[in-house]
Amino acid sequence: MNSALLQAKPHEWGIVGHDHAIDLLRRALAAQRIRHAYLFTGPEHIGKSLLAQRFAQTLLCMGGPDPRVAPLNPCGTCLACRKVMHGNHPDVHFISRAPDKQFILIEQVRTLQSDSARRTLEGRRNIFIIQGMHEMNTQAANCLLKTLEEPEPDVVLLLTVPDPGLLLPTILSRVQQISMHLLTPAQIREALEQRWGVEPGEANVIAALAAGRMGWAVQAVENENLLAERKEQLEMLEQLLLANRVERFAAALHLSEDADKLPAILELWLLWWRDIVLAAHNSLDLVVNVDMRGTIAKQAAQVGPTEAERVVRAILRTMEALEQNVNARVALEVLMLDMPMVR
Ligand SMILES: [Zn+2]
Repeated sequence: MNSALLQAKPHEWGIVGHDHAIDLLRRALAAQRIRHAYLFTGPEHIGKSLLAQRFAQTLLCMGGPDPRVAPLNPCGTCLACRKVMHGNHPDVHFISRAPDKQFILIEQVRTLQSDSARRTLEGRRNIFIIQGMHEMNTQAANCLLKTLEEPEPDVVLLLTVPDPGLLLPTILSRVQQISMHLLTPAQIREALEQRWGVEPGEANVIAALAAGRMGWAVQAVENENLLAERKEQLEMLEQLLLANRVERFAAALHLSEDADKLPAILELWLLWWRDIVLAAHNSLDLVVNVDMRGTIAKQAAQVGPTEAERVVRAILRTMEALEQNVNARVALEVLMLDMPMVR
């Protein structure tokens, strides 16, 4: 193994953080010992699919010194790299749950198996990226096991899942796990400023709200609506705390009519009330909503820690109830009654 090559910066993969994960893959590339299946694990929006895609790029990259061997970094400019990036390389197959289906289905796995049995069209490897392995039903997963047990020599499966505990042990025992961890707010802030040209104040807010997930931060930069909506939703929360019972019930009805947005709104409220708990315990420096410290301090002083913790629990109960398909309007009305009056 050429150790000088290994010292090249992981940043050449165009990924912020995750040096440990990239290092593991680079070592396999340097040793030319590529496993047949890798499982990328970590929370949503952390960059699992991006890392899988970069690995696929590297496996197929034609920009290295020897075109028969995969280089240690994707060059990013050769035809193979560009095709993988644009999702149109004939030897890279993407598999995920169809939007109108509940699971990844056995038919999709059968297609994978017939694709993996034929020769590659352009590249050295036949690569299958399965996003959200936990959404594969048992029948399909058992079918996939056959491929994991006896893969064709050139086949590489790249699987992603938020938590390995969601998969069958028989699957887990046949893949190499690559765990990805949350980044620090400083890593995200720095990347936003240096690579995305975000001004420092805004980078600070987005980095705090991203809670360690670079993918979320990038979404917030690319979609200005995301931050505008957050502001709107926090203003609505502020209004609600002033509102009487009739107004609150009207708001519950209104919110319940847009069920798709509810989980994100409740997530935001939860972060807000966690901040109030922190502020009430004299830890204002730890809050996530760094741009709203003034309002948070004011509300914390009025509500106090015990009451704020009670609201956090009430929001968590509401989120659970909604996951169990309890009537959204009823669940929200209960929550409205649990929220204190704040002036
Ligand atoms: Zn390349």
